[in-house]
Amino acid sequence: MIIGTHMSIAGGLEKTAKAVVAMEANTMQIFSRNPRGSNFKDPTDKEMAAFQEIRRKQGWGPLLAHAPYTMNPASNQEKIYEFACMVLKEDIARMDRLEIENMVFHPGSHTGIGVEEGIKNIVAALNQAITGEERIMVLLETMSGKGTEIGYEFEQLREIRDRAAHPERIGVCLDTCHIFSAGYDIVNDLDGVIYEFDRIIGLEHLKAIHFNDSCTPFGAKKDRHATIGNGEIGMEALLRVLTHPQLKALPFYLETPLEDSGHKEEIRMLKDKVGAA
Ligand code: FE
Ligand code: FE
Ligand code: ZN
Repeated sequence: MIIGTHMSIAGGLEKTAKAVVAMEANTMQIFSRNPRGSNFKDPTDKEMAAFQEIRRKQGWGPLLAHAPYTMNPASNQEKIYEFACMVLKEDIARMDRLEIENMVFHPGSHTGIGVEEGIKNIVAALNQAITGEERIMVLLETMSGKGTEIGYEFEQLREIRDRAAHPERIGVCLDTCHIFSAGYDIVNDLDGVIYEFDRIIGLEHLKAIHFNDSCTPFGAKKDRHATIGNGEIGMEALLRVLTHPQLKALPFYLETPLEDSGHKEEIRMLKDKVGAA
């Protein structure tokens, strides 16, 4: 099982890696920059070496960087769009230099211009950011469809990927809370949802799972994460996701509302349940 949580790197990369080890996790997600958008300073060579040493020794799975929530590459407003283009371009390059395997972002909200126009903007933002020379994969996140969010239907994600100049560098990150909220019934028909994903996007493009329960009911199109087993998806359905033969080799990232100590318990509980199953 490859499992970790979202981690703050405010204390530096090496300290964060040690916290992951203490949590008994074997991967992590970090923000590619301060969530409010300002840049993190790059790690020193020494810190970078210490970080790489820890992850190699521990045999971690793929790492995931998350772009700031505040950016909106679907926007038609010049300043907002330029900021999103700049962040995508800079952070893809920076995270690639850190040898992080995947970077996920929210496709964005069209805020009234419509899904088609929004997708056009997203594709152009990706095309100015991805050179095709990277090792990193850029992942589109499945969204809940709150407000005017794009990416709550698998078809929308496929369209973005298909129209990009470098589709070979683009994958998908599936968020269990978001797709349940968007109306994909992973509680009663997980196989059907996986079949749909494969048919529309292709399972080979699924690179990561955001593993969350949902505070809001099926199809509510809201984005409120619950801790595992304490939401509307529930423990049994989430364990079926974690152990599904077509998913279980993927890296799972908890984005549940807990501190490090709570996440340590959550990871231990999941390992126990899977071990016992
Ligand atoms: Fe996200
Ligand atoms: Fe997520
Ligand atoms: Zn979310």
